[in-house]
Amino acid sequence: MQIIMATSNMDKVKEIRQILEGTEFQILSLKEAGITLDIEETGTTFEENAAIKAEAVRDLTGQLAIADDSGLVIDYLDGAPGIYSSRFMGEDTPYPEKNRAILKMLEKAEGQERSARFVCAMAIAWPDGHTDIRRGVMEGRIAYEIAGEGGFGYDPIFYLPERGCTSAQLTAQEKNAISHRGKALREAVSVLKASIA
Ligand code: IMP
Repeated sequence: MQIIMATSNMDKVKEIRQILEGTEFQILSLKEAGITLDIEETGTTFEENAAIKAEAVRDLTGQLAIADDSGLVIDYLDGAPGIYSSRFMGEDTPYPEKNRAILKMLEKAEGQERSARFVCAMAIAWPDGHTDIRRGVMEGRIAYEIAGEGGFGYDPIFYLPERGCTSAQLTAQEKNAISHRGKALREAVSVLKASIA
């Protein structure tokens, strides 16, 4: 069964393909499906934005579509950057700069005050018009300094107390096993599998 993933991010496509390996589901990126679509993320939650993206592709093609929306939620900053994670300080600002700015904003925060989480909502838009949404969360803290070369985005400042390192210091497989995106994706796969059981 073909599923169109409403993203141009090939890392996300690769990740979901790994998880779906050996199943009857085949993921197509927008490009592979021959679709050019500029979708505006006008929602106020991760769930709304994921649904907007998946439904836009489903409405255009009439086919099963999935999309995710994710970001970093920092309690000390009242939930920022949240759904604005990629737009925070401007799309084109390099992440080392964004990460340094966040460390500065949390200069006075100690211990538990630095609590944060990565959140991912995964939406499945079905051809019959309904949408299923699943959420995955990875809890952690904002580190005191930048560390690690792996991952992307805010990973070098996301400290995992139980691991004693940042998510940028995990291998791709280790991160996938505990990450917000990995969790949301596995939940979404259960929904997909249940639909054909
Ligand atoms: P979107 O889901 O593509 O709209 O963007 C999510 C944004 O949240 C990314 O551009 C990153 O800034 C941030 N983000 C989401 N997941 C991760 C992650 O696993 N590591 C680091 N940053 C992330």
